Amino acid sequence: MSGRLIVVSNRIPTEAQPSGGLVVALHDCLTTEGGVWIGTSGTPVEKPEPKLREIARGDYTRMVFDISPSEQEGYYLGYANSVLWPLFHRRADLVHLRPDYADNYLAVNARLADMLAEFAGPDDLLWIHDYHFLPLAKLLRDRGVSCRIGFFLHIPFPVVADILALPQANDLKDWVAAYDVFGVQTKGDVGRVMAHYRDDPHAIFDTQGHMVALNNGAAPRHFPIGIDAREFASLAQTHEADISLALTLGQKLVLGVDRLDYSKGLVHRFEGFAAYLDARKPDTPKATLLQIAPPSREDVDAYRDIRTELEQTAGTINGAHSELDWTPIRYIRRAVDRDMLAGVYRRADVAMVTPLADGMNLVAKEFVAAQNPENPGVLILSHFAGAAEQLTDALMVNPYDTAEVGAAVEQALTMPRSERQDRHAALFDNVMREDISWWTQSYLSALRGTS
Ligand code: UDP
Repeated sequence: MSGRLIVVSNRIPTEAQPSGGLVVALHDCLTTEGGVWIGTSGTPVEKPEPKLREIARGDYTRMVFDISPSEQEGYYLGYANSVLWPLFHRRADLVHLRPDYADNYLAVNARLADMLAEFAGPDDLLWIHDYHFLPLAKLLRDRGVSCRIGFFLHIPFPVVADILALPQANDLKDWVAAYDVFGVQTKGDVGRVMAHYRDDPHAIFDTQGHMVALNNGAAPRHFPIGIDAREFASLAQTHEADISLALTLGQKLVLGVDRLDYSKGLVHRFEGFAAYLDARKPDTPKATLLQIAPPSREDVDAYRDIRTELEQTAGTINGAHSELDWTPIRYIRRAVDRDMLAGVYRRADVAMVTPLADGMNLVAKEFVAAQNPENPGVLILSHFAGAAEQLTDALMVNPYDTAEVGAAVEQALTMPRSERQDRHAALFDNVMREDISWWTQSYLSALRGTS
């Protein structure tokens, strides 16, 4: 008999029809497959009970559990977002180590493991999402849970040298090895997981140095997450006409869309755009960089710092380059609704997706899906975005090399239409083929042990 699909993620949607990439994907997956979605309740309570609470039932069931204010501080803002997030995004210098952060992280995971051990049957499939819950499979196995347990890491897996900055570096090995399927975004991530186990008895390597098994489970595998490309393309077509951008006639639009996060390389991007401005020949079109950057995690110091730095950089560049009818950088520090965003993507001539580290980067894929194939915009993409393994026909850049980024902006703005069409056709093909339902089905068949 086949059991239930039980999905666990830190946040779960509370509305009937959720929006936002991953949330929509998991919602669609559970609507088709049936099952249960479990996450934190979102409002800390003083004395959380070790109980899962059902909040909605329909094609699938949604359940939540509570965390306390000190767990919100230690587990979520602390260990998850001030230790694991910077470490996994190659910013060990920003890691903020405190023993109570790790204690709270483990306490929340242990309480969730207790609840799941009671809830999950041997035929159920457990699919755990992201760095908030890395220890769960290990904790569940310790409690005798025998069902298949998979994990998907949405962010990059770190290099060994960075992992060593984690006091729990050895525990991380046990956490990862306890999963039946440890899924990551890219081949590069698979390589970094393997490197972490190079001399570890958990891992079995073949004669060519490829890991064939980790503990009793399978070797780590990559499942690059996709988007609902068809839906996004039609959203962009519908909303193109709604967008009023008030650009001076003949000016080109360069677009950036990112949460305000240090991993997104926004300061480097502005400096790269400034390099284009500095080198601009009089006959190259004037371009405006429209940067949409909704703030996130403002309770964490590093996020306040990046905001100040970015605003100063934009001010300096605009001060030096603005003209009476042209402000080269327009910066919007709030979220733009998804429908409108789709229309803005379609209107843009160029997108700059230049993170310093990024699990996948869905914006890159959304931009490609939103283009008019007859007259498509150009994608400038960082080598360090997970999407770079699939979207190889973008203009690839090293985001640290501002001169190279500036030259790529110039090249994108002057690229002949036929080259834009050819590059876009190849990118579009990938985004449509390896879309979100391809991703869910690939992962689930691995978790069921059928692929
Ligand atoms: N997004 C949005 N409005 C905004 C900015 C971003 O809806 O103002 C969405 C964007 O369309 C994308 C997601 O937020 O689906 C960002 O995902 P991505 O993988 O690029 O980065 P993450 O924020 O997950 O690191």
